[in-house]
Amino acid sequence: MALTPQQLVRAEILALRAYPVADAAGMVKLDAMELPYRLPEALRQELAARLAQAEVNRYPEPTGKRLRQQLARRMAVPEGIELMLGNGSDDLIQIVTFALARPGAVMLIPEPTFVVYRINATLSGMTLASVPLRGDFSFDCDAFVAKLREVRPALVFLAYPNNPTGVLYAQSDVEAVIRAAEGLVVLDEAYHVYARKSFLPRLAEFPNLVVMRTVSKLGLAGIRLGYLAARPEWVAEFNKVRQVYNVSVLTQVAAEFALEHLEVLEEQAAAVCAERAQLRVQLAALPGVTVYPSEANFLLLRVPDAQRAFDGLCRQGVLVRNFHGTHPMLAQCLRITVGKPEENRILLNALREAL
Ligand SMILES: *Cc1c(COP(=O)(O)O)cnc(C)c1O
Repeated sequence: MALTPQQLVRAEILALRAYPVADAAGMVKLDAMELPYRLPEALRQELAARLAQAEVNRYPEPTGKRLRQQLARRMAVPEGIELMLGNGSDDLIQIVTFALARPGAVMLIPEPTFVVYRINATLSGMTLASVPLRGDFSFDCDAFVAKLREVRPALVFLAYPNNPTGVLYAQSDVEAVIRAAEGLVVLDEAYHVYARKSFLPRLAEFPNLVVMRTVSKLGLAGIRLGYLAARPEWVAEFNKVRQVYNVSVLTQVAAEFALEHLEVLEEQAAAVCAERAQLRVQLAALPGVTVYPSEANFLLLRVPDAQRAFDGLCRQGVLVRNFHGTHPMLAQCLRITVGKPEENRILLNALREAL
């Protein structure tokens, strides 16, 4: 008789829960840190024409050479540093983790942070170690470095700024971690257009540093493109783990087009930053609401009853992320992506009702 999935699938996978993605049909969508703006109509037409030219009968150039060269120029990647492309940075996180998952190898992360690091530690068989952030979600550098010396991780992930808290760790703390680490340190700069702080220009200084970025938070979440920058000796190994054709022809063409118009996306992101400042003040004025500092395109808040607020928002057609129950430090926390001005107004009015 055939065995069941419960009998055949690895125990650690049976114990996982699939990454939750809510159905957002018809909702004001403030749950996933997307840029709320679409490309302007004229650019969309141009993009359509460009995509129509793509040779979809052919496999993509496996390393996305032209796109990598364009990224290297636009992002001012230092001399001697190489790029690797991923099907989103989620793909890159998996590639790096699987490459370093030798038997007994440890991944060290602060917590709470992006759950995908932990999921990949589990899937790859790495041992996960973590150090709690402070109560205000700032980085406890002394505790982290002490843990680092104790568990000697092969791999450290720091989201810079962090998700779901929005806090940008001090530059000196990040430097201290990189210098103390014998293993590889990955700085995940998914929100760099909002934070405008980066270690990418300094990559050549540190032999054990990788910087990861994505275009997802910059208005292109749908095309699935992430990129990683590191010394060539790291990229050479990661390339062996990467699926040969991991970034589609259509993605490469769309990304090349978007990079030619990067200033449009950056202006839209700047508008979101201005909205973030206003929304923070308005949210903090609500009774019983604490708003944490954020350098990303979202705000983390603590409310008196997160489930009640979340349900009330849903009923009024507003989708945010409820983090209550995911980690003790995130009790009664909601994460709200900054939307367009009218979306933020709807959110504020709805939250006033829902608290
Ligand atoms: C959103 C996010 C990612 C995922 O980016 P994709 O390119 O869409 O896979 C990676 N890291 C952090 C910290 C994020 O918040």
